[in-house]
Amino acid sequence: MTARILDGLKIRDEIFGEIKGDIAKVAAHGVRPGLAAVLVGENPASQLYVKSKIAACEQLGLASWLHTPPAMVSTEQLLKLVRNLNTDYEVDGILVQLPLPAQVDAKNILEAVDPLKDVDGFHPVNLGKLVSNRPGLVACTPAGCMEILRRYQIPLEGANAVVLGRSDIVGKPMALLLMHANATVTICHSKTHDLPEVVRRADIVVAAMGKAGFVQPDWIRPGATVIDVGTNKVTDPAEAERLLHNFPERLEKFRAKGNVLLGDVHPDALQIAGALTPVPGGVGPMTITMLMSNTVKAARLRRIPETVVAGR
Ligand code: NAP
Repeated sequence: MTARILDGLKIRDEIFGEIKGDIAKVAAHGVRPGLAAVLVGENPASQLYVKSKIAACEQLGLASWLHTPPAMVSTEQLLKLVRNLNTDYEVDGILVQLPLPAQVDAKNILEAVDPLKDVDGFHPVNLGKLVSNRPGLVACTPAGCMEILRRYQIPLEGANAVVLGRSDIVGKPMALLLMHANATVTICHSKTHDLPEVVRRADIVVAAMGKAGFVQPDWIRPGATVIDVGTNKVTDPAEAERLLHNFPERLEKFRAKGNVLLGDVHPDALQIAGALTPVPGGVGPMTITMLMSNTVKAARLRRIPETVVAGR
């Protein structure tokens, strides 16, 4: 059996179509939603992420602004920038690209973002709303995982869901979202005993650990749904050979390029799972998609709350 592929690119296109409709609706109220991105220093990965986010804004017709303080910026200077963005009426979403340099108090900066403009869903106010299942802005990656599960009609009610990882940005919000969807949720972390046995009980596995190919195929219950959040750039030839020995085409590409993007779940799980998000092309595209969705939602909540329909 080969797992059904849960195609993040297809879902992205579907949601982008819906967002365009939402943008047209808010335009009728004279509103053009806009995202302000703050990119500190010159980290190449961060530059690439922010570039993709700005490109998505442009593709959808959202306004965007890019602020690029130098790597040596102080917490106070960054706080001033965030406060200015908080009071700028045209700015609906504020995105502070992480990681921030060591001298900056990152928590302080994230907590300074107006919760109504917190399109990353990292502010304690939005986390609190998520805990109590009240409408708010939800962290993009877990929100994207839920969109995949819902749009592929994976049954959640009463399902055993195992979330691997307990980070504030993925694992914890993911577990809360699954619980609110009436799944029975187990959260695992580096101190969990007998991880394979816990995973074997899962109807739905969400892997967000940051360890390439860590979840073995025989941990997956046959037919289970696997959401692989892991995004690991593998450059070690021995590791690539070990994980991709059943995928000669991907191995060829690795040899030509010198690196390959792999999830936290061993690629051979494809033969065991019932449905699975590929890496790349699964959860990855959903993060930017939900950022766009959150920006439009933030614009409606703050500027035209009467247009916010429950659930979207
Ligand atoms: P993180 O903050 O490093 O958290 C990793 C979690 O995994 C921690 O809770 C850790 O447990 C747990 N863990 C580590 N080793 C483990 C083990 N051997 N057994 C069980 N649990 C273990 O990572 P993150 O920010 O949540 O990201 C996780 C992965 O998702 C990364 O690969 C990241 O690149 C990817 N990601 C992808 C997207 C996307 O758009 N696709 C977005 C965000 C993140 P402890 O708490 O005990 O340390």
